[in-house]
Order: sequence, then structure tokens, then C-alpha cells
Amino acid sequence: MPQKPPAENASRKAIELLAEEYPNAKYYLNFSTPTDLVVAAIISAQTRDEVVNSVTPELFKKFKTAKDYANADVNQLVAYIKKVSFSGNKAKNIIAACKILQEKYKGRIPDNIEELMDLPGIGKKTANTILINAYGIVNGIPVDTWVIKLSNRIGLSINKDPDKIEQDLMKVVDKKYWGKFAYILKSHGKKICQSQVPICSKCLLSKLCPRNGVTKSA
Ligand code: SF4
Repeated sequence: MPQKPPAENASRKAIELLAEEYPNAKYYLNFSTPTDLVVAAIISAQTRDEVVNSVTPELFKKFKTAKDYANADVNQLVAYIKKVSFSGNKAKNIIAACKILQEKYKGRIPDNIEELMDLPGIGKKTANTILINAYGIVNGIPVDTWVIKLSNRIGLSINKDPDKIEQDLMKVVDKKYWGKFAYILKSHGKKICQSQVPICSKCLLSKLCPRNGVTKSA
């Protein structure tokens, strides 16, 4: 039977509680420049943050600009990121994206979602992430696997499609939280609402969450 969404005021209360609980939630990949961020974001697909953060310091020391990456040899780049999954494809995407950045934007990272999404390896979630964290431009909410899982569990969305989830969240999440909402949910997911076995008995949302007591990965 489809899950019934909770009343909007319960959802808003749950969001406020989460925002209070995780005031320091922030983006989890290390970077110094917008170019670093684009590269780290491409590397991060289906890869744990710790692994991404373990390979990027040496990578960022060697490659600093879009031009550096655009001129790189795939094998040279793979050598720096071989610990991450799909390193060959990711290296190709980084080089292809940086060639576009170099040729079309003189090496600058675009500050709008359409141009970012035209770059290989960059989808909507990543484009939103880059806008928020490189430029402070908040036009949407990045929807990653944590956001999908917890939005469904908490009842903020009954959808599975990331675009629909984002639309649902934008209706109920106060705009002041959009830029960090993905990181708030991730913090709660890692600490309490874990993927396989959520610790509902210790959850600050236990009185509001329609999935309180869930015992399996759902
Ligand atoms: S009550 Fe359980 S399922 Fe709901 S948010 Fe908390 S830990 Fe997750």
C-alpha cells in the first residue's frame, strides 16, 4: 500500500528539528576552487566521500586549472584516481568537461544550471551542488541517495524520481535551508536513520516520522 504523506505542518516541524540538530552540516568533499569542485564532484559518483577526499589532495596539487585537465592524458589522470570506481570513465569525463570549459568559457566554471549540466559527468544534483558550494547560488536542492532515502522515510516525498523529490522538497523546506538540506539529511542518515538499520528509538523525529520502527532497508 502506498505510504501516506504526513501533514505539512508535521513535515515542517521535522525539518526544523533536523536543522537544529545538525547546524554545522556542510558539503563533504574537500576543494579550494570551483574547478576543484567540478572535478571532485565528477569523481564522487558512486564513491564514498572518504575515498574521494583521499585522492584529491595530490590531484589538486598537480592539476590546478581546466586547461591543465584539458591537456592531460587519460592514463596520467587515472594514475591519480585509480582508487575510485570507474576511474577510466571519470578521467575521460573530467578531460572532456575541462576541454569544454577551456574552449567555451575560457576555463571559468559556469554559474547556471543549464551550462553546468551540458558538461560530461554533471547531472542536476551535481550542478546544484556546484552552484551552491562554489557560488552560493541556491536555486534548488541537490537530491542524492541519502536525500532520496530519508525524504521517503520521513514522508517529505512519496516519489522515487530525484526531480520529483526535489519539487516536493522545495514546497515544504524553507528556502533558507535549501543549500544545506542534503547535508542535514546525510548527517542524520549517517548518525541515526542508517540505510540498513535505522535507530528509531534514538531518533528526534520518532513522534513525527511515519516510518518510525522500520526494521529493514526501506
Ligand atoms: S524514526 Fe526511524 S525511520 Fe524515521 S527518521 Fe527516525 S530513524 Fe529514520
